[in-house]
Amino acid sequence: MWTSKVLPSSATFPEETEVDHSRCAADTGVEEEAAKVKAEVSGIFNRGVGIRLFTEDNIEYIDAASGTFNLALGYDHPSLVKELREQVGKLVHMSSHFTEPYVADLLRQLLKDAPAKIDAGWMRDITGSTANECAVKVAQKYTGATDVISLFLSHHGQTLFTTGISGNAFRRAEFPNASAGNGICVPGPYCFRCHYKSTYPRCDLLCADAIADFIEYASSGSVACMIVEPVLGNGGNIVPPPGYFKRLRQICDEHQILLIADEVQTGLGRTGFMYASTSMDIQPNIITLAKGLGGIGVPVGAVLMEERINGLQKHEHSFTSGSNMLSLVAAKKTVEVLSEPGFLENVRKNGELLGKLLQGLKKKHGCIGDVRGIGLMWGLEIVSDHNAPDSAKTTAIVDRAFEAQRLILRGSRYGFGNVVKVRPALVSTQDDLTEIVDRLSKTISSID
Ligand code: PMP
Repeated sequence: MWTSKVLPSSATFPEETEVDHSRCAADTGVEEEAAKVKAEVSGIFNRGVGIRLFTEDNIEYIDAASGTFNLALGYDHPSLVKELREQVGKLVHMSSHFTEPYVADLLRQLLKDAPAKIDAGWMRDITGSTANECAVKVAQKYTGATDVISLFLSHHGQTLFTTGISGNAFRRAEFPNASAGNGICVPGPYCFRCHYKSTYPRCDLLCADAIADFIEYASSGSVACMIVEPVLGNGGNIVPPPGYFKRLRQICDEHQILLIADEVQTGLGRTGFMYASTSMDIQPNIITLAKGLGGIGVPVGAVLMEERINGLQKHEHSFTSGSNMLSLVAAKKTVEVLSEPGFLENVRKNGELLGKLLQGLKKKHGCIGDVRGIGLMWGLEIVSDHNAPDSAKTTAIVDRAFEAQRLILRGSRYGFGNVVKVRPALVSTQDDLTEIVDRLSKTISSID
């Protein structure tokens, strides 16, 4: 396999590491084209403009993965860059005690579009992992209960505890403390490969109903909360079917369990709405945010919740860099940009276009078994005969797109590792989307 000088293939995407590049199928079909790119590339990436990355030698790559899926506004949104520059000149850090007025101001903005009952927040995190831990602490303290329910294929972070509650064993294998004794993982709403071998809507949402059995027979009898991603991102861009979240809410209410929406990926505009919790009618008690909240990659986390359950003391969940001035400025400006008239409407329109273009690819390429997504968050499930997951081809597509088409994509290592994710920044234009799908189509044609 040709290895790019831009980034070593095996180290391309260390954070979510969905694709195991070492498994890339050997293929000679586009080696020539790849060699041409290789000849031109002689440096590392050192500049980002909009949704594009450039090498030292000015070779342009188009990023359909939004960095680590955190660049909601691309690499260099001018209003964020300006505000951040000014802020660096004034004040980078002060104790979170003194940043409280800024936090209050930002929370006011964040809560404007949140579900009606969500009326408070906590902003002492800079990662999604610890924001989720904060949410669990809130739930445990409020309910006095211990257990946390999560879904197969979910991803909630990489601290020991969030690794423990995430729905995949491969991240836990080497770390004894990463098994959460109070975590209960249950089958999720993965209709394309239904755990219960059923079909929607005939299934009558069996996967949701079965959670009551897990509570009854697999829990400690003391369940604090359930945590769900509105779209299971790392799990393969799985979009739950209509009615799923309504049923979850009912089950949580029946068992007096708090519902946490992990919106680290879907949060702030990604689905074409500020929060998937409102557009998908999830009615959570708590929402967690990170990634896109920082706009152009500034680390920041937030936990939004119902005031009535907010019993945490500052000393119970606080980090040195939590609510630092740069994070707060980036988040505030990001919310402002997303709130500009027409911005989210445009994301919805562009999301529909991207969906249509990708559905068109499915008609052309037999290896695409399923196309699913919402807003600017799409995944293609790559299959071989009889819809068998084809992770080697998935890896080959991601590698080939990078090498021969200068297109940055991500594959999914979770589950069967056979989902190619197409999730460009929210500032992408329709021309960008057409170009992304065109390059992707050429890539798949060269492998098919
Ligand atoms: N939740 C979800 C849904 C995520 O995708 C991630 C990161 N991939 C996290 C939580 C953890 O966020 P962070 O990497 O900022 O800790």
